[in-house]
Amino acid sequence: MSKQHVLTHSQGVVLAAYPSCENCLTWSVDGLAVAGGQNLYIVNRAIDRSPTVMQGDTRWSVITVRVNQFLQSDWPEQQLAALPHLSIGEEQSDSVVVGLSWSPPGLGIHRRPVLAVLTSNLILSIWETNGSQRGWQRTCVLNQHLSAYKSTKIDNNDTGRARRSVRIRAFAWSEPLLMSPGTRWGKHHLAVIDDEKNLTFFGISKRVNEGYGNWSVAPICSTLVASWKSKAGNSPGMTKLQRTIAESSPVKHIAIEPWHIDYEIAPPGRTQYTAASSIICENSQGEKLPELAIKISFNEADMTGNIYPSSSVNVQNDQPDLRKTLQDFRIVHSTSIQPEWQHALKQICADFDRQNHLNGLFRVRFWGFATSPDTQVEAACISLHPWDTYEYTSAVHEKSRIIFRSLGTADGLMVDLHKSEDQVLASALDFVVRSLDHCDGRLSTVDCKLLHAFLAWASLHPEHVETHRRLRDKMVELQHGLAHPASGSDDIEASHARTSDGPAAYLLLSGVDLCDVCGSHIPLNFEIPVAICQSGHSFSRCCLSLLTIQEPGISKYCATCDRQFLDVPKLGSFDGQSLLVQLFDAFDTCPYCDGRYRG
Ligand SMILES: [Zn+2]
Ligand SMILES: [Zn+2]
Repeated sequence: MSKQHVLTHSQGVVLAAYPSCENCLTWSVDGLAVAGGQNLYIVNRAIDRSPTVMQGDTRWSVITVRVNQFLQSDWPEQQLAALPHLSIGEEQSDSVVVGLSWSPPGLGIHRRPVLAVLTSNLILSIWETNGSQRGWQRTCVLNQHLSAYKSTKIDNNDTGRARRSVRIRAFAWSEPLLMSPGTRWGKHHLAVIDDEKNLTFFGISKRVNEGYGNWSVAPICSTLVASWKSKAGNSPGMTKLQRTIAESSPVKHIAIEPWHIDYEIAPPGRTQYTAASSIICENSQGEKLPELAIKISFNEADMTGNIYPSSSVNVQNDQPDLRKTLQDFRIVHSTSIQPEWQHALKQICADFDRQNHLNGLFRVRFWGFATSPDTQVEAACISLHPWDTYEYTSAVHEKSRIIFRSLGTADGLMVDLHKSEDQVLASALDFVVRSLDHCDGRLSTVDCKLLHAFLAWASLHPEHVETHRRLRDKMVELQHGLAHPASGSDDIEASHARTSDGPAAYLLLSGVDLCDVCGSHIPLNFEIPVAICQSGHSFSRCCLSLLTIQEPGISKYCATCDRQFLDVPKLGSFDGQSLLVQLFDAFDTCPYCDGRYRG
């Protein structure tokens, strides 16, 4: 499924295919995704910790994912459509990538973004990974949810209409909808347009937090856009092909503007939210269609919404930054070298010219631009072609290049967002102490271990003496409320308890971390990632919960800094009250570097 080649920043990245659509690249925290025919290329900065790598000499890794193969369950075989309903894309194309876009972060495994990929068979798939290179999987086909929704609305005998209504032409993610101001992750939505000219707005989420798939895809509202007439649609200068395309695929791009949200506290104490936004569509001639407004009302329990023409409501659209999304669709087939890219292109163009003996008769074609999530770097996808002569090439010689330029003043590729171990563990300790406020005293063994480990850590760091005292007091309080301590092991604890000095002793000692090999105590020391028992057996320690990791297959890693963490769902099922679960819910990206977890 994947291969990897690494090149330096100055040369850009070379991919072994021509781009297969306009706006063929999209960038998120999980990498730069590029559409290249039957493949998807995920380009990431390679992590190279060797000190010899020079600054500015960024290395990139490329993962290739083939996306034009479908299982029978993804895309069941069906009869050819009758001529009036025929789609060349659906029935004859090679299912190459014709559109792709990252979701906002937070939707996928370990709070990663997921990738929506539209292929030329008019199927919109959701691809996701757990962070490993070979982990890319198609876990959702949106058309199936569209078909389930449409089957309630369309007469079953009208097969032509039923076929057209599940072909997806265009899609767009909206910004996440935050359930309260200041929350980190929100609700995610996706708008799609089908060949029946319906725009359907879906809410999409995972039913359970961890693992592949488990999608819950719910249509919220839809509207018919058939009344939109293209201005150019009837112009006499159009060729027959252009007219056919204009009629068969009325909408080519959708963009959803940021939400305006009102939070109201409605009696009795429930919060009712309303969110409004605009949806902008462009047709295949690049004309903007009349704007649509969308309004959604939601509370903790459900969500309703409707879409209507924007003119009838008062939506503020005059802020220039709201228009940004549409500018992403600017013409990308520029054949002239854009001045800001001249530096990045100089060497590449010179090499192409020399190798093909073109004497300057060549052109650069731009296929799209994307800005890095930290807005420090812009990437462009280009291909190079001879000009004023025939171009003959075979598939093996097809190449596209990703070139980069810095947008920041400093070298934007070197932004440092890292937190120190002390900062991370101090905030984790603080979180644990605050969580104990709502604790009903039912602590699992692993929670006792967690408390014990944080108590030990705080006692090693005199600067946290106040938090240390608070944690100890909380544990004493809890101890009083405990009729039957949750842990049941036994002699060692009892013998220790007799020698200990306070009422917190039991709770404390039931959390002592013991070596699985020899049963002796594993003390916490200053070197967090290493845990060594009193007899010298060594293990890893979770860099957030401070628990020892004594078995294989129960950890996850930060994809960026490689630190090791416990993967709580792999330890078994805990109830949501568990301190350990709460801790990892609060720190659901790497607390050291904000990287995504993998594994
Ligand atoms: Zn041991
Ligand atoms: Zn990290």
